[in-house]
Amino acid sequence: MATKTLSDIEIMPSLAPGSPPDDTAPVVLTEVTKRYGRRRRAVAALDRVSLAFPAGSFTAVLGVSGSGKSTLLQCAAGLERSSAGTVRLCGTELNQLSSRRQAMLRRRRVGFVFQDLNLLPELTVAENIALPLRLDRRPARRPDIERAAARVGLSGGQLRRRPAELSGGQQQRAAIARALVTQPDVIFADEPTGALDPHTAVAMLRLLRSAPDGTTVIIVTHDPQVTRFCDQAVFLHAGRVDRVLAAPEPTVVAGVLHELGQQADTERADTDHTRGGQP
Ligand code: ADP
Ligand code: MG
Repeated sequence: MATKTLSDIEIMPSLAPGSPPDDTAPVVLTEVTKRYGRRRRAVAALDRVSLAFPAGSFTAVLGVSGSGKSTLLQCAAGLERSSAGTVRLCGTELNQLSSRRQAMLRRRRVGFVFQDLNLLPELTVAENIALPLRLDRRPARRPDIERAAARVGLSGGQLRRRPAELSGGQQQRAAIARALVTQPDVIFADEPTGALDPHTAVAMLRLLRSAPDGTTVIIVTHDPQVTRFCDQAVFLHAGRVDRVLAAPEPTVVAGVLHELGQQADTERADTDHTRGGQP
């Protein structure tokens, strides 16, 4: 397991507004804004977000529902184009790549784990795990599949079954093995533990944590316990970075989340008030 000293995981200077970004980090967002909708109805889901995620770091992204967590992940991965600002992924500025090249970069260097695991029901577990290799037209060799599966504790007969024949926890493992199989530089996970009981969620986090040294993991979550496994916690509020904590403590994280929730409630009440009490 990658053990990192605190000095490695100190918050990047680039997190401070106005300072130059760290170009060596595999994921760097500079003044990224994402607006949905047009003109007066436009919603800034992200508002001038600057963040660097150092190589090998494990980061939780937290915030109330609608604060922009998923949008941050989508923009960082190039699944959504940002409206302004720049995203560097694995050393390349995404704006300078065609959609096709972006997709290629993702297939080669990035792994994904989503809450609804997206396992294909008609494929076996082994075939599901092999899928990212096949999409990238790489050979899906049995030992590579077995190695990725073994990392998450799946083996033998389980690999020959269909996802529906596995328990929820085993399906989760398969989804992580699929993210690991290409040995990606970066893994993005959006609420991967959202549907799990706490015990399974912790097991899942341990698996993500066991990705090879140097893998950068960014995980969206609303669960303070998840941050026990993280080097840093990024808090979003209304599309902006509210704060970043190094070596986050779950109790502190829970406190910050509570505070941000109250702040969001107050802001919502104010908006409703100025609209004349309309919900
Ligand atoms: P979170 O993941 O923190 O719950 P999201 O990133 O999904 O938040 O959403 C942030 C804001 O952007 C919300 O106000 C949401 O309604 C809006 N939003 C997200 N995706 C879209 C979309 N495809 N079209 C319009 N608005 C969107
Ligand atoms: Mg979300």
